[in-house]
Amino acid sequence: MNLTDSISSVKGVGPKTEEILNKSGIFTVRDLLYYLPRTYENFTETTRLSEIKPGKVVIKGKISDLKTRRTTRRNLTITEGVIRDNSDAIRVVWFNQPYRAKQFDPKKDYYFTGTYDLNRGRYQLTSPKAELASDVEKQAERNNGFRPVYPVRSAIKSETFKKILESFRPDFATIPDLLPETGSSKFTKPGTRRGALFMAHFAENEAEAKAARDYLAFEELFELILASQLNKKENQKLQANQIPFVTADIKKIVSSLKFKLTNAQRLATYEILKDLEKSSPMNRLLQGDVGSGKTVVAAISALSAIRAGFQVALLAPTAILAAQHAESLKELLEPFGVAVALLSGSTKQKPALKDAIKNGKIHLVVGTHALLTDDTEFKNLAFTIIDEQHRFGVNQRQKLLEKTVKKTGLAPHLLMMTATPIPRSLQLAVFGDLDVSILNELPAGRQPITTKIIREVNFQDDLYPTVRSFLVKHQQVYWICRAIEDNPMEETTSVKKQAKKLGQIFKNHAVAFLHGRMKPAEKDDIMQKFASGKIDILVSTTVVEVGVNVPNANLMVIMDADGYGLAQLHQLRGRVGRGSEAAMCFLATKNEEPSRRLKELEKSTDGFYLAEADLKLRGPGEIYGSLQHGALNLHFASLLDTKMIAFASSAAKDFASSGNLADYPELAQCIKRYQQLTTLN
Ligand code: ADP
Ligand code: MG
Repeated sequence: MNLTDSISSVKGVGPKTEEILNKSGIFTVRDLLYYLPRTYENFTETTRLSEIKPGKVVIKGKISDLKTRRTTRRNLTITEGVIRDNSDAIRVVWFNQPYRAKQFDPKKDYYFTGTYDLNRGRYQLTSPKAELASDVEKQAERNNGFRPVYPVRSAIKSETFKKILESFRPDFATIPDLLPETGSSKFTKPGTRRGALFMAHFAENEAEAKAARDYLAFEELFELILASQLNKKENQKLQANQIPFVTADIKKIVSSLKFKLTNAQRLATYEILKDLEKSSPMNRLLQGDVGSGKTVVAAISALSAIRAGFQVALLAPTAILAAQHAESLKELLEPFGVAVALLSGSTKQKPALKDAIKNGKIHLVVGTHALLTDDTEFKNLAFTIIDEQHRFGVNQRQKLLEKTVKKTGLAPHLLMMTATPIPRSLQLAVFGDLDVSILNELPAGRQPITTKIIREVNFQDDLYPTVRSFLVKHQQVYWICRAIEDNPMEETTSVKKQAKKLGQIFKNHAVAFLHGRMKPAEKDDIMQKFASGKIDILVSTTVVEVGVNVPNANLMVIMDADGYGLAQLHQLRGRVGRGSEAAMCFLATKNEEPSRRLKELEKSTDGFYLAEADLKLRGPGEIYGSLQHGALNLHFASLLDTKMIAFASSAAKDFASSGNLADYPELAQCIKRYQQLTTLN
């Protein structure tokens, strides 16, 4: 049996079934086998109603008192009833399933499978699956009452699926294995892929179902980690310009700074300078919370490369941020004879500037990611710095490599900076090929940011007086809204409407707005005015999210805060508290009950803590942040399972150093796909 064979080669799959399976995305034997149960139902363990507890339950009982009504406000139909067994009774509710009212015979027993939970102060079983007890029991005889439930996709029925798998049963023994001997049998019970897949489909109890999943999770992590290990190996084969570490130069710039570097900044700079000396390209991630001072670390390392006669490029995700970086890098580096230029969409004298870059008159080019794709040519680019790395896609980084390696045969050293820390488990699993420096220390004298969740109905009493107290001290305010214009279909507060409203409330202060659809020149103008203190309240979309640095702005209000991810809110909040004054951030919501995310933010300003918290609040296999836009999300493995990750990691490393991928063609293919997704070099 070949996994790439068409499903039509499976016994019992005729043209009609094939068509149905195709519609559900199942084309090959492999697709079929990996179409795994979503969950299992255990009919051997029903809950007596007198002993019911909140959570997932299977109940056997009769149903009565069914009534259907419509709600006027949200236009729902609600069907309610009572389920009884011989011990007690509970309430059952279905939403928008009016046929339920006529589905049941009140004299017959049914199995109800679903979640028993608190809803608006009352316990109920909500939208359970219901099946005639006699039907279930007939089937249960065959498989001990434990049976898989397959995800329902378009036309395919769970029953059809079970039948096909049943006829495939004898063929499981012929499924080839994917992984080399890894000792995985010590860790997961099935020990082989064929064993795991068989167990997943024909599990007889919870323990078997779990063992099967564990093996598949191991397999998935092994592939992912091996891919990043191989990326690392390939990166080491590339050649790069060696940049000597000249201590005297570094000492000079460090002593020119207005402040003392933190120890973390010193260590990170040292690690980078050491990497730059090597003949293989650096591939390093600098993780440091918002405000930890990553820019100056980048500036010092850039100076080292420029002193050695090379060019450096710094990429920022937005034009506003690029402009700001160009400004502060000029201030830091021009005294050392460095020519810094900003190359962004709004730069007018482009041709002249491009010439200067091409013939090496410009040493440090700051720009947006357009730099990667446009026709800008460098004389000798040896070092690329990417700020807010998580904002860039893999493809863009790939382009960078193509652009430079193709021309010179040399790869640039790469420093990626991020204020969105990658949790350790994810680091190990996905980015094992990166070297990491961490700024885990804020510059001295920073005041913590106080964060408060606030309901919009309380603005008058609890927010406006605070805003006034900041304005009176001549401190500035960011007011973040999700939308630009009002949309009659949504309740979301818009920038334009909010700016108008605040203009009326805070009459004696300058209120302005900013959003991504304004012309670049307009945006620059507003940003300039805000930075120089001519605007008191800046109502803005998230265009100010990353990197923007206005130390006199110490208050932030985020409207409709529930609509953002944790990482994004943390980034936004990082715009305040950048000076020596106490800062505040209000997370505004229209909801009565704030989300868990908001509560975590209220509790902590530590980016590393929040990254872990976010990982826990997300699905277990969802890759953190916007890193890969779902393409990399894990199906079986959980990023919270550090033990499994560590185990798979050591197995993959062993294989990367001693195994030969050519002996495992199927594995090699999976790995190739992952390598393309995870490569950061
Ligand atoms: P981020 O890590 O968020 O990019 P920045 O590099 O923008 O942080 O730095 C934030 C602010 O802190 C800047 O105004 C910068 O000049 C200042 N800064 C950086 N390092 C130090 C330090 N060691 N001591 C005091 N201020 C510092
Ligand atoms: Mg920054």
